[in-house]
Amino acid sequence: MTDLFDLTGRTALVTGSSRGIGRALVTGLAEAGATVVVHGRDASRAEAVARELGERTGRTAHAATFDVADATAVDAGFTEIEERLGGTVDILVNNAGIQRRAPIADFSDADWQDLLTTNLTGPFHCARRAARGMIARGSGKIIQIGSVQSQLARPSIAPYSATKGGIAMFTKGLAADLSGHGIQVNTLAPGYFATELTAALVEDEEFSAWVAGRTPAGRWGAVEDLVGPLVFLAADASRFVTGQTLFVDGGMTAVV
Ligand code: NDP
Repeated sequence: MTDLFDLTGRTALVTGSSRGIGRALVTGLAEAGATVVVHGRDASRAEAVARELGERTGRTAHAATFDVADATAVDAGFTEIEERLGGTVDILVNNAGIQRRAPIADFSDADWQDLLTTNLTGPFHCARRAARGMIARGSGKIIQIGSVQSQLARPSIAPYSATKGGIAMFTKGLAADLSGHGIQVNTLAPGYFATELTAALVEDEEFSAWVAGRTPAGRWGAVEDLVGPLVFLAADASRFVTGQTLFVDGGMTAVV
């Protein structure tokens, strides 16, 4: 039987993989055999992660730098990646994202726009560009990084929640458009994970303890917890799974 989780021969781009969750995801895909592209806006950081991955796996890992919010930059970035890889992207992970927190009465226009352009318009730009190559080839995987915040509300993050709720429905719409082309589109939705994005929450002892208590597994997630579910969604193992959201949250969204 072929290995349902083997990604040898596939190419994968993980947006925002220069640190945090994306870095763990791109590492997992590389270890499963994929040729990976590490991405972020900070070129030196993306290149350093690509170098480290290349040394670890013995295969070349590539680095790419563009702002997902800029459609022209996304198109140019994909073209450059395709030229370097000698083919199109097989697996796109729309991970790049930001967080902004404030009570709604104080929420600024600038923060609202930043959230929309990074967390929703960015995945649109990348999915549109990647879909062209995938449709031509008749196969592909698009995995979007959502959040428990698409299901569970908390104070001061309504706009962030709106973007992640949008992502979950964008995934279903993409599945409607692309399933007939042999492309699966799913959302991987993390619970709470300690990264730069959540640094202020980790430092807040009361909130940090609340997360552990509210999570049936009794702890914050470790970024490595996301790797197995991602490889499943990226591999042949999930070939009849599309339009779904897979929560990786220690049970947070399942249990009150
Ligand atoms: P980090 O802040 O640690 O990393 C974010 C990554 O995205 C960086 O690599 C950053 O690189 C990149 N990035 C941000 N904006 C852009 C942009 N406009 N264009 C290109 N790259 C960009 O965040 P996390 O790892 O915590 O989060 C990753 C994803 O997971 C996000 O979508 C987030 O919403 C989601 N998530 C996180 C949770 C958590 O608990 N941490 C929980 C649920 C969901 P650079 O700065 O170089 O551009």
